[in-house]
Amino acid sequence: SSLYRVDGWGAPYFSVNSSGSVSVRPHGISTLPHQEIDLLKIVKKVTDPESMGGLGLQLPLIVRLPDVLRNRLESLQSAFDRAVEVYDYDSHYQGVFPVKCNQDRFVVEDVVKFGSSFRFGLEAGSKPELLLAMSCLCKGSPDALLVCNGFKDAEYISLALMARKLGLNCVIVLEQEEELDLVIKLSRKLSIRPVIGVRAKLRTKHSGHFGSTSGEKGKFGLTTTQILRVVRELELVGMLDCFQLLHFHIGSQIPTTDLLADGVCEAAQIYCELVRLGAHMRVIDIGGGLGIDYDGTKSSDSEISVSYNLEEYAAAVVRAIRYVCDRRSVKHPVICSESGRAIVSHHSILLFEAVSSSVYDAPALSSFGLQYLVDSLSEDARADYGNLASAAGREEYETCLIFADRLKQRCIDQFKEGTLAIEHLAAVDGLCDLVSKAIRVSDPVRTYHVNLSIFTSIPDFWGIGQLFPIIPIHRLEQKPTARGILSDLTCDSDGKIDKFIGGESSLPLHELEGHNGNGYYLGMFLGGAYEEAIGGVHNLFGGPSVVSVSQCDGPHSFAVTRAMPGPSCGDVLRTMGHEPEMMMETLRQRAEEYVCGQNPGAVASRVGMSFNSMPYLAGMSSCGLINLMTSG
Ligand code: PLP
Repeated sequence: SSLYRVDGWGAPYFSVNSSGSVSVRPHGISTLPHQEIDLLKIVKKVTDPESMGGLGLQLPLIVRLPDVLRNRLESLQSAFDRAVEVYDYDSHYQGVFPVKCNQDRFVVEDVVKFGSSFRFGLEAGSKPELLLAMSCLCKGSPDALLVCNGFKDAEYISLALMARKLGLNCVIVLEQEEELDLVIKLSRKLSIRPVIGVRAKLRTKHSGHFGSTSGEKGKFGLTTTQILRVVRELELVGMLDCFQLLHFHIGSQIPTTDLLADGVCEAAQIYCELVRLGAHMRVIDIGGGLGIDYDGTKSSDSEISVSYNLEEYAAAVVRAIRYVCDRRSVKHPVICSESGRAIVSHHSILLFEAVSSSVYDAPALSSFGLQYLVDSLSEDARADYGNLASAAGREEYETCLIFADRLKQRCIDQFKEGTLAIEHLAAVDGLCDLVSKAIRVSDPVRTYHVNLSIFTSIPDFWGIGQLFPIIPIHRLEQKPTARGILSDLTCDSDGKIDKFIGGESSLPLHELEGHNGNGYYLGMFLGGAYEEAIGGVHNLFGGPSVVSVSQCDGPHSFAVTRAMPGPSCGDVLRTMGHEPEMMMETLRQRAEEYVCGQNPGAVASRVGMSFNSMPYLAGMSSCGLINLMTSG
């Protein structure tokens, strides 16, 4: 566990058990060992057709843990409740979950369900997000906020106004000044009194990747001058009482509570000024930014870690708002936050399998002696070979590498000229590999091929270099004897993971035992936010299977409460506008013409059947389809 820093990034949910597997404490507290959920047991169960009612799922697999999600929400709420009590704060906290972090139906429904007793709401940034948030919140607390962010057109604003008409506590947050006229016009037309908020562009700037949209030149929000114009216009049309919320968001992964307090103080000053100018302010919405300790270092020097915990975060916010409001004699506002990452990251784990590893190929010199090779070399190449041999005798390793490279290049040139046979070229490759292998004994990094698409499942690694904890989920009682990078199934050279938490360029891994029928399973943790929402269909690898797992009493200590296979080839093709049915028809006709004029019906029905049931990762299954066709 210390090798992979599980205690650092995994506490209090993940740890290594006495069998050497990663197990989950879904409620975040120590439980009896038999109540912990062993991830390997989940893999075994859900991939076994017998225990899944005939539907064994394929990896990769997203394991959702609703108990963890509930615990994250409750922990955030109680951190703020405690801070409100400690600082004698005269109002309360009620957060919203930004659905863009994970729009999965069951995630959003669970957030609303688990948070309803403490008025937890949702944030939407587009029309579809607003629609789903509206429908989910119908089952939530009537006081829960529905915060409408993002760029808005007339349809978006009309929908948000309708949400108020339906009794939802919906706030339209202006991100651009131009949205105000539309809000005024449409609310008059629909005779609905809106609740309006403004997103302020703060001067406080969060440096680093996640803060690139903050500061005065940031992409989002209204400047001080624009906010003043909004106040004047609302006053002019008799709607200043509708202005009730001030929002800001200085970026994700805020590294320290000092920076957080700085931003919150600045926003609280604006809030107090808006009160002075006559707006009926009620809520300060501090946006997202509550960070996750992906590498377990609890350090603000690392972009993927933060130096505070939930309690320290909540305390810094409540203290800062209280301080400013008390000095200005302003009633304490309701505090809202839009934490996404901090709520959903832990609740889902991506599990995948290493299907092979590139093992060093012993050079095939034995099939023809070295002398046979040497005889075929040009004079220069032969001299290099001689120098290589003498340098090896003198143990001058760097010199060996130079002569080996030179020899190889000469042989390539000779091959291109047609004076060297392919067997000789292979022998030179083997010789050079042998030399570098013998000399660079410290570089035994292998490539482990994993059944995964990084573009689909870990897009932030590819797009912004974000690192997540990735570790084997079993065999952790054994010392790993190899180091490896992970290469995915796409045919893209970017489809590999060669950077890991702790600044490592390879991961300690175990030997594969595939020949014994044992899989080697790895997990990517803390990826519950953004990864599913952003992932694409590069190479038309659609997406993993998904299961929900809850703790329960019983032999396994868990129950699979929901199971969804990944999309079929047909599903994925449809997302890119193809029509699988028509494609099958074309292929069926072709099969009739070319393959089995004798018995076309038999082929056509087998082809049709296989297409819809093909799981997405079987890029190779497409070949299977052709095989099936040609084999008749
Ligand atoms: N609110 C807004 C306006 C955002 O842009 C974001 C993300 O960038 C969030 C909330 C969620 O932030 P986080 O995931 O850091 O909590």
